[in-house]
Amino acid sequence: MRFIPVNTPLLSGNELKYISECITTGWISSEGPFISEFENKFADYIGQDHGIAVSNGSAALDIAIKALQIGDGDEVIMPTFTIISPAQSLVTAGAIPVLVDSDLNTWNMDVNLIEAKITARTKAILVVHIYGLPVDMDPVVKLAKKYGLKIIEDAAEMHGQTYNGKMCGALGDISIFSFYPNKHITTGEGGMILTNDEAVAKRCRKLRNLCFEPDGPRFIHHELGWNYRMTNMQAALGLAQLEQINVFLEKKREMGRYYQKGLKHLTDKGFALPLVKTDYAENIYWVFGIMAPSDLAKTEIVNTLHQNKIATRPFFWCMHEQPVFQKMGLFKNEQYPNAEKMARDGFYLPSGLGLEDDDLERIVKVIADAYE
Ligand SMILES: *Cc1c(COP(=O)(O)O)cnc(C)c1O
Repeated sequence: MRFIPVNTPLLSGNELKYISECITTGWISSEGPFISEFENKFADYIGQDHGIAVSNGSAALDIAIKALQIGDGDEVIMPTFTIISPAQSLVTAGAIPVLVDSDLNTWNMDVNLIEAKITARTKAILVVHIYGLPVDMDPVVKLAKKYGLKIIEDAAEMHGQTYNGKMCGALGDISIFSFYPNKHITTGEGGMILTNDEAVAKRCRKLRNLCFEPDGPRFIHHELGWNYRMTNMQAALGLAQLEQINVFLEKKREMGRYYQKGLKHLTDKGFALPLVKTDYAENIYWVFGIMAPSDLAKTEIVNTLHQNKIATRPFFWCMHEQPVFQKMGLFKNEQYPNAEKMARDGFYLPSGLGLEDDDLERIVKVIADAYE
């Protein structure tokens, strides 16, 4: 029986050709020509003026937050249910993440809970689009206007997803993407910051490159940044992947439809499958998540899959329950029941672009045999 991992990337386009070009021309560092080509083409695709390619999505968040001058004592509202990256970037910048619970239908932050969290110190709302459906952005945009707040969009799982026909990553003041191998397009490791604000873009470029002064004398620094540069080889991969994004998105939706149909019987047993669509978006199934009726039921189904050599991953663990933040005295006694339930009862099935049809068939059959 073949092992089915949670993710296998698909690298069957011009990836090898463009990477070979890096080797034969000797352009392997962050100075090569593929970087700006990838930045321009990806920014164009999402519909933003400026793209700044970086070493990964978490680095992109560090830069985006610092570029917006968010720091000491500033409050930023964000979901508790997310990967740690956005919270880590805020905390290391000296800012305070202010958490919001999730909506059990869309698995995204409940935007109705944001306004109550706004104080005089709030500087921004950091939205994280989760798993396949975007955050309901209209209310967020309204609040940002009303209170003069910035919107940071973590679109690391949303390449090509739209909200009311508008691209995710073009809905706020600044957005970030990740190109980790399980994202819709990959550069191995990699990320990008997008914005329409030229001054912010210029700051991002500087922060990515150790805050060398672009116009000043070399090796004189007025500020601290990072070396978060992307290499020409990563950008070569990214370009080849971007050429295939429409095929990739359709493949993901096909996978979603197959799982939805084959696993519908689980809903009779109290399991919840991803929402197919909302009135503003259709799911792109970055990963195909499932919420079990209890953590015991989750352990059972996950064990059954593992015994059949099918990998799964648990859902994210809430920020307010992270030992590292608890130790820092953050989020003391805070509770977010929906997000806590998602973290305990949720897991996802193999969802990579490299999944074969017979893998999908086997996964659905193993679950049917155990539960139908
Ligand atoms: C993957 C991901 C990141 C981090 O990206 P890396 O490239 O792995 O650093 C950030 N936010 C979200 C929502 C993600 O899914």
